[in-house]
Amino acid sequence: MNAEETIYYENYKELIDSLQNEIAWISDVETYEMLYMTDRAKALISCCDDGYRNQKCYEVLHGNNRPCTFCPNFKLAAEGTYNWSQYNIKTKKWLSIEDRLLVHKDRHYRLEVAHEIRPEMLEIPNAESILLQSIQTLTTGSDFQTAINTFLEMVGGFYFADRTYVFELDFEKGVTNNTYEWCAEGVTAQIDFLQQVPISEVEDWVVQFLKKHEYVIRSVDKELDHDSDTYKRLIVQNIHSLLVAPLFIDDRLFGFIGVDNPELRIDNINLLRAASDVIAVELDKRSMLERLEYLSYTDMLTGVSNRNFYIKKLEENYRNPPSKLGVIVADINGLKGLNDQYGHKYGDSIIVRTAHILRDSQPFPVFRVGGDEFIIPCPEIEKTEFQAILQTLRDAFAADPECDVCIGSSWHGEGLDINTQISRADELLYVEKQTYYHDAIRDGKITRASALNELLGEIAANRFVVYYQPQIDLNNGKIVGAEALVRKLDADGNIVSPARFIPYYEAQGILMHVDLFVLDSVLQMLRELEQAGLHLHVSINFSRSTLLIPDFVEKICTACNTYGVPPQRITLEVTETISKVGDDVLLELLEQIHSAGFRLSLDDFGSQYSNLAMITDRGFDEVKFDKSLVDTLCENPRSRVVIKNIIQMCRELDGITVVAEGIETAEQAVILNAYQCDIGQGFHFYRPMPADDLVALLQKP
Ligand code: C2E
Ligand code: MG
Ligand code: MG
Repeated sequence: MNAEETIYYENYKELIDSLQNEIAWISDVETYEMLYMTDRAKALISCCDDGYRNQKCYEVLHGNNRPCTFCPNFKLAAEGTYNWSQYNIKTKKWLSIEDRLLVHKDRHYRLEVAHEIRPEMLEIPNAESILLQSIQTLTTGSDFQTAINTFLEMVGGFYFADRTYVFELDFEKGVTNNTYEWCAEGVTAQIDFLQQVPISEVEDWVVQFLKKHEYVIRSVDKELDHDSDTYKRLIVQNIHSLLVAPLFIDDRLFGFIGVDNPELRIDNINLLRAASDVIAVELDKRSMLERLEYLSYTDMLTGVSNRNFYIKKLEENYRNPPSKLGVIVADINGLKGLNDQYGHKYGDSIIVRTAHILRDSQPFPVFRVGGDEFIIPCPEIEKTEFQAILQTLRDAFAADPECDVCIGSSWHGEGLDINTQISRADELLYVEKQTYYHDAIRDGKITRASALNELLGEIAANRFVVYYQPQIDLNNGKIVGAEALVRKLDADGNIVSPARFIPYYEAQGILMHVDLFVLDSVLQMLRELEQAGLHLHVSINFSRSTLLIPDFVEKICTACNTYGVPPQRITLEVTETISKVGDDVLLELLEQIHSAGFRLSLDDFGSQYSNLAMITDRGFDEVKFDKSLVDTLCENPRSRVVIKNIIQMCRELDGITVVAEGIETAEQAVILNAYQCDIGQGFHFYRPMPADDLVALLQKP
């Protein structure tokens, strides 16, 4: 027999039977479990037959997710009844309730019998439970707007009023705004007409409020001067009496709460006074949260959304991807030059103007994601509409020649994730950037000499730093080496990724200075490590243009000698584009590099041409699978076939090491290990880190 049947059959059969035509229910006092409801009770709160089973009374009756603050459980006595009233939010009805305690085998149960009542029948002492109920509504509702509406509705119900509302005062602008309102059935909403009302119209009230008094008009007709603006405004709204109470936070008056045409209890100011305290605290909390949210999601310079917000939006996008998406990326040309030449103030003004053109020329939110970089994701947009937006943007920038901006874009129908879209848009932006730099050099806007001077100055001023990303033996999880990855610090000390500046230096033909700086830093770190008895292997990226400088190999050998680091500790990473130099030149170069003792790695394999001959005929010591292959490893069988076979081939070709780059999950690492990939590198293991962190990591026992 379950609990419900036990109570029924063993003790209270007669009592329960006698309630069949009442609105009544029984719940467990300790567990709040709902055990029984009469048909009328179920009908009242629209609960289907067994809908209340396994639910708590506060869920079934009030839609709360925890016990009600006004719960009468602790007021129940063994003898007699406890009578009270409540406003039932679910049904929007006032109920007068009679409670009694049922006891069975040391367990306590609450029987409630309810009667619908008209608000005017409410007894004043019940104001306390009404207030408690309103507070709970206000503080536990997840959606503030709904919570405050229900709160105002309860207060309005208590006074049997036409309207309950909140006004907030803006003393700086001298106006007050109606920010929230509840209206009884058949009463017209006024909120839209009550914006920017001059404070002078409620001056009398404010004077009272400042003295911490409420303001009561029992009869507008009798108490107000018929020529006054207040009288006219109230009469237009059909208000004949009202009750208002100030909202204070820390002695600062910031608004008021009021009820119009209270038909009942106009003399009971206590409830409104208490309600004003509660609502003041809640509004204050909310405005603080809004302000904090605004601050943490807004770029203070331009007023558009910042990177934080962008990341949050990206996450939301993953959870709920749009069916169509256009992405626009925009990047200010030559901002650094503007800052240097005309000062940061001018540079900032260009950033602000760019942000505002982006924001004002199209309907989607703009995010500033880097110093000179903006992104506009346009979800659920048709291709033609997207292209029209792009054209409008281009026209807007054409009209402001001082804002020189490159725009990249990508649009896709279904099934392309936002990150891939952004990187496509980014790629297109880079094509534009390259063209921009080439044109700028051609037109003499930038000269190679000035760019070189600037770069050398920046290297000397320690604006470049080398990060290291550990490489892991996939068999035993040990660190076997690291890749050196260059970073630049902008004027504010923020880290700029190489993708942002390498194309520029490459276009200028001065990238070798960066590469050689990295080599120098690496050798210096390796010397310190050797002295501490640690031997590490480091891979360094060299661009094709650096490899082609005269006496390249000699230069790097000299550098190794200077630091006393054997060349065997260094792997040079080059990408497939090296093949553009022509076979003869390439083979000779590779031969020199090898005979000097350096290792050679083919970077980003699988990202572009994936020319197998590069692996088989050129004498590379290592192949690095590009992140794009690793990314699709788990879901795409083709990537698995490519990777598996190339690893197989490398093993057969006598010891070409295979490194997989961009490993982000344990699953990827496990598959790669199963295919006998030797080494792994990726965020799953470690992100690129400063030299000191790497040293500390290596020194850990
Ligand atoms: P790369 O040589 O292919 O370097 C690997 C890139 O992948 C690095 O980006 C690294 O941070 C990133 N990466 C590693 N693991 C993960 C992962 O799990 N997830 C993701 N999303 N990314 C991962 P970084 O440091 O931004 O470098 C970008 C490229 O810039 C490098 O690609 C390389 O081509 C170039 N680069 C970096 N330093 C130098 C340098 O000193 N000289 C030259 N010439 N190029 C450099
Ligand atoms: Mg690399
Ligand atoms: Mg790579």
